[in-house]
Amino acid sequence: MGSLVKQVRQIGRVAKHGLRSMSSTASSGQGMSFELTQEQRDYQELARKFAREEIIPKAAEHDRTGEYPVEILRKAWEIGLMNGHIAPKYGGLGLGTLDACIITEELAYGCTGVQTAMEANSLGEMPVILAGNEEQRKKYLGRMIEEPLMCAYGVTEPGAGSDVAAIQTKAVKKGDEYILNGQKMWITNGGKANWYFVLARTDLDPKASTGKAFSGFIVERDWPGVNPGRKEINMGQRASDTRGITFEDVRVPKENLLGSEGMGFKIAMGAFDRTRPPVAAGAVGLAQRALDEATKYSLERKTMGKYICEHQAVSFMLADMAIGVEASRLLTLKASLEIDLGRRNTYYASMAKGMAGDVANKCATDAVQIFGGNGFNSEYPVEKLMRDAKIYQIYEGTSQIQRLIISREHLAKMKQNM
Ligand SMILES: Cc1cc2nc3c(=O)[nH]c(=O)nc-3n(C[C@H](O)[C@H](O)[C@H](O)COP(=O)(O)OP(=O)(O)OC[C@H]3O[C@@H](n4cnc5c(N)ncnc54)[C@H](O)[C@@H]3O)c2cc1C
Repeated sequence: MGSLVKQVRQIGRVAKHGLRSMSSTASSGQGMSFELTQEQRDYQELARKFAREEIIPKAAEHDRTGEYPVEILRKAWEIGLMNGHIAPKYGGLGLGTLDACIITEELAYGCTGVQTAMEANSLGEMPVILAGNEEQRKKYLGRMIEEPLMCAYGVTEPGAGSDVAAIQTKAVKKGDEYILNGQKMWITNGGKANWYFVLARTDLDPKASTGKAFSGFIVERDWPGVNPGRKEINMGQRASDTRGITFEDVRVPKENLLGSEGMGFKIAMGAFDRTRPPVAAGAVGLAQRALDEATKYSLERKTMGKYICEHQAVSFMLADMAIGVEASRLLTLKASLEIDLGRRNTYYASMAKGMAGDVANKCATDAVQIFGGNGFNSEYPVEKLMRDAKIYQIYEGTSQIQRLIISREHLAKMKQNM
């Protein structure tokens, strides 16, 4: 394993260079390239191999039992497929969002339940990457590199998901501490995390604006008063761990406030610009798997004297699936390249997430259709894809919320130019 880690670190150093050359090519007006750099192809190959050898053989069992894939996650951590975006200064590879998307798509092809457990680390870490001070980054990001630990992003509550500003969790300052009380819901890695990013209201005046009312904290799992609930039994992505968490008089040292008081909403939402493209990449991986499984099946199954792919009705379904996969992949890479180039990508990140989520659902449903009766049965791989796909239209902002963001951004741009 040691030499593999070295190899990954080496790829990491060169990949950063590769991305820089790609962006400088773009900015120097030499046109654009859809080619991945050699280093990105190396990452892709490594993640693909890992998915084929380590994830796919065990995915159905984790789906059946709901058992958390500790062994798979440990191996992924060992070869550098997790926490890739943590800066080299804290021991990480410092990968960009585009690199993350390339890796994520491959892992998701294997099982999106496993990939979501990994992705939740990125989501939990992102507020610390964006707003943490040197001490916080060293302590909490460094820890993720030293040990195969998980973390989580705790924003949603039983009464507030899409409406983030309606959260009720409160943190009240008392001396050098904040006293945290409240309840979070649907937190991925909720029962496995070593620490959480938690969004709480610090300005109790109900009239306080979202830009002032909330603060973000790093909260350790072991602190008294932090109580994860039972593992939720979900429709799909059952390998991943989703829980409610209650915080009861949790004493959070003021050193664990991210940024300054009142910055929480901005930090929590800002993370999505960097994490929505990889979530979209997960959906692309699932859609590609559905297309591949359906295509293979259609080349083997015969009806009325023909392979089913020779019936135009079936081959056109495959064609539509292929269109969706390619289009959502390109949009995902566009959204990630935008942020890697330092440009605001909110519009594209929501488009990528919205489109890839819908495409994954259509592809998985069509794959079940192409499998006929077998598609409805758990002995075949596509019913799992259909169950796993649904969440891509719900978490990290529902499909409706992505459209809300896209329409707002679109209209604001139009108004500016009128
Ligand atoms: C498996 C799983 C894992 C998750 N992981 C995490 C996590 O790690 N961390 C975390 O903080 N959260 C997590 N979530 C929460 C997830 O982000 C929320 O469930 C999601 O944002 C939707 O919120 P809600 O469930 O409260 O639905 P609601 O907000 O109540 O929405 C219900 C319906 O109304 C629609 N709707 C709501 N408001 C509007 C509007 N203004 N315009 C149009 N339509 C609207 C929605 O699109 C949806 O169809 C997870 C959820 C699940 C199920």
